[in-house]
Amino acid sequence: MIDVENVNKSYLRGKTAVSVLRGVTCHVPTGAFSFIVGPSGSGKSTLLYLMGALDTPDSGSIRLRGEDLAPLEPAKKDELRRRSIGFIFQSFNLLPNLDAVDNVLVPFLPTGEAASRRSEAADLLRQVGLGNRLDHRPSELSGGEQQRVAIARALLKRPALILADEPTGELDSATGQEIFEILRRMQREMQTTIVTVTHDHRYIQDSDLVLRIQDGRIVA
Ligand code: ADP
Ligand code: ADP
Repeated sequence: MIDVENVNKSYLRGKTAVSVLRGVTCHVPTGAFSFIVGPSGSGKSTLLYLMGALDTPDSGSIRLRGEDLAPLEPAKKDELRRRSIGFIFQSFNLLPNLDAVDNVLVPFLPTGEAASRRSEAADLLRQVGLGNRLDHRPSELSGGEQQRVAIARALLKRPALILADEPTGELDSATGQEIFEILRRMQREMQTTIVTVTHDHRYIQDSDLVLRIQDGRIVA
């Protein structure tokens, strides 16, 4: 699904370039329930965003399903992201004025497909346990419920790949555990590849692959 080869990435801090990823090479097989772990500031999110074509490496290559991202024009990259990748963030990123169903439909508003996918959106919310919360707005939902809405939103595109950045970072550990159980179940049912950044080691037992990163290098 993902091939990262000898990727380097640095950011400018003032006038100095700070190296964040140093010669990262890794491979995420199709269908894997996988994690990127490591200390804070080690480069986990940077690697995840590169995998999701949200940012570009300084050197090295990233291929998604065999396709090299580097030569793709920005519009092509946007299209690839919109169609094939579901993103889940720490802070849920729901729209406050929309209820759960409409939040799940957000990625399909620009394409005009939202109306035709309404019942599918409601089905997905039922599958993540929110059948009785369909018309609740984010402020009426607990943190775990909001993250489940975000999971349903990511799943509605039936993405080949889901990228999650600290999806349990704002949740207590029991709720975090539930979120991972849902992700694991959906990954099995839909055969989606999932890559999750976490600094919390409790959640990684039930995984297919763990990439451990330290100071911008894969160490295990
Ligand atoms: P992690 O996810 O492991 O906490 P990140 O990938 O977010 O680490 O960040 C790695 C390092 O890169 C950190 O020192 C961070 O401050 C720096 N960094 C990340 N994004 C940027 C950016 N857009 N501009 C400048 N520095 C950044
Ligand atoms: P948690 O125990 O996970 O922190 P909360 O105490 O925030 O959950 O919420 C408990 C339940 O009450 C949740 O299922 C949520 O949907 C519902 N709820 C919370 N706030 C509101 C509200 N303002 N309006 C309607 N329902 C709410």
